[in-house]
Amino acid sequence: MKITIVYDNNAQEALKCGWGFSCLIETGTNNILFDTGWDGHLLLENMEKLEIDPQIIDTLVLSHQHWDHTGGVTTFLNINPDVDVFVPSGFSPRLKKEITSRITKKLYGVSSPQKICDKIYTTGELEKNGTGIKEQSLILECESGNYVLAGCAHPGLLLILEAASSFGKINGIIGGLHDSQEYGSFKEMDLIGAGHCTSHKDIIRKMYPEKFQKIYAGYSIEL
Ligand SMILES: [Zn+2]
Ligand SMILES: [Zn+2]
Repeated sequence: MKITIVYDNNAQEALKCGWGFSCLIETGTNNILFDTGWDGHLLLENMEKLEIDPQIIDTLVLSHQHWDHTGGVTTFLNINPDVDVFVPSGFSPRLKKEITSRITKKLYGVSSPQKICDKIYTTGELEKNGTGIKEQSLILECESGNYVLAGCAHPGLLLILEAASSFGKINGIIGGLHDSQEYGSFKEMDLIGAGHCTSHKDIIRKMYPEKFQKIYAGYSIEL
């Protein structure tokens, strides 16, 4: 399975950076775009430079409703409306209606853990008490084990990893880890790909120098 970061606060030299996150997952059977960043034009520009044709994408998953993960949706759907879309069921009804009116396939509101497509599962929508932010993370069933893909990790690592573990042992995590300080959660992992909104990159890197991987737009890994 190939994972390519398309949009991040940091980017390799040829690409543009911007606050937000987006990532392409190629399973061999499906091509899934996870989040869209904020600026849809920047998203498409980075895709072009990475030689990713937006038309190959068959599934769009949005982790949560924040602007830096959903801002590029309309620009993307104008280029490729032929996608199934998975959003936390708590998304605003108006936004769900807008998305539905622009796609030729189906919009799914996700509540509990479920399969998205072959080898890809969602934790279901999770919320840390009282934050009001509902977010889903993905579980990628790779040849080398299961990996979690997180947008901003607002629910906190413990909640996310607990839900993700119902699909088996977690080998690693990639994405935005927010202000997570549950550093012990990384102990059993072999990859910590921290990007986007991760506040404590330096601490994580110091604790787990062999596992830590800084991610950025243009970063790609086969798992
Ligand atoms: Zn967020
Ligand atoms: Zn974010």
